[in-house]
Amino acid sequence: MSKKEIKYCKKCVIPDTKPDILFNNEGICSACVYYEERSEMNWDKRKIELMGLLNKYKSKDGSNHDCIIPVSGGKDSTFQTLKMLEFGMNPLCVTATTDKLSDIGRRNIENIKKLGVDYIEVSTNPILRRKINKFTLTMVGDIGWPEHLTIFTIPVRIATQHKIPLIIWGENTQNENGGPAADAKNNTLSRRWLEEFGGLNALRVSDLIGQEGIQKRDLVLYTYPSNEELDKIGVTGLFLGHYIPWDGHNNALIAQAYGFESYPTRVDGSIINYENLDNLQMRVHDYFKFLKFGYDRCTDWASLHIRRNRLTRDEGLKLVKEYGGKFPSVYLKTPLKEVLDEIDVTIDEFIKICDQFTNKSVFKCDTRGNLIKDKNGDLIKINYDNLD
Ligand SMILES: [Zn+2]
Repeated sequence: MSKKEIKYCKKCVIPDTKPDILFNNEGICSACVYYEERSEMNWDKRKIELMGLLNKYKSKDGSNHDCIIPVSGGKDSTFQTLKMLEFGMNPLCVTATTDKLSDIGRRNIENIKKLGVDYIEVSTNPILRRKINKFTLTMVGDIGWPEHLTIFTIPVRIATQHKIPLIIWGENTQNENGGPAADAKNNTLSRRWLEEFGGLNALRVSDLIGQEGIQKRDLVLYTYPSNEELDKIGVTGLFLGHYIPWDGHNNALIAQAYGFESYPTRVDGSIINYENLDNLQMRVHDYFKFLKFGYDRCTDWASLHIRRNRLTRDEGLKLVKEYGGKFPSVYLKTPLKEVLDEIDVTIDEFIKICDQFTNKSVFKCDTRGNLIKDKNGDLIKINYDNLD
């Protein structure tokens, strides 16, 4: 495989290896372009539009909840819940239980309930879930595949079952991340959006049937409701980030003021302390992004901060180099072995899976084409910035 020099956005530190990203003629990425467009947005008008929609969906006689809020307990879902309460809504908060919930994650879920909301938590069969984690880690290099699916399917299923048509999602990740224009500017989350951008790596639910003895009947909660069911209730999923300017850092500050607990130090594999605190598998998920595309959460956060002038590009780049792309030996004080034991994978097997999914064109290899690793088992990227 020939070596590919990664190109980086001239404004932030996003690489051109990132899926769905586009660079313009000036070498600026689509995420930065969309961010600039936000300043020209008439946010007052959008807020009025939102108020109209909320009013339309509000239960007129108080016989049902006004909306569903999918919540993980994280900073964004805490913020969404606070906003809906502020706007006078009576939400039903729904959590699709995460794969390996941390103690701090549990405390943050309890904190959401204490904001004063009704709440449902839906958990999938844990024995089956471990099998799926292992299968998707091995097949598509994503331990978190079932989670990326059920965080979407479960709230939508609850919406149809409870006849609550409005679902309030957080940000349209395609906007901050620079996905295709039509989808980045979209205000709703649909089945098509989920299949295209929900992080499913082209693996379908039906592909699981027959693997590890999995049958169709095991996958009820992994299945999006039918169009007929959705139409009957008129289910609509809105991105709150389309109506109010979205900034994860800002959301964290507000959530913290209302009892959300952040981590005492920078989280492993990141440069912040207020994201991905709930799922102990998350570090493995993020590491595979680095192996496949040569960037990780440090890059995402540095870029987000650079766009908002909280970091200079040089400062962001320094943090990415220092903290990004490390082998995920430990996460939130939990050793990798504990995470892997649960899904019946050894460290050696894990390293083999990692190597199998590593894009050799962006990392240093020896003359025989084998990946070079340092004494900590970390890979060496070819270039961290534009070489010109
Ligand atoms: Zn950029």
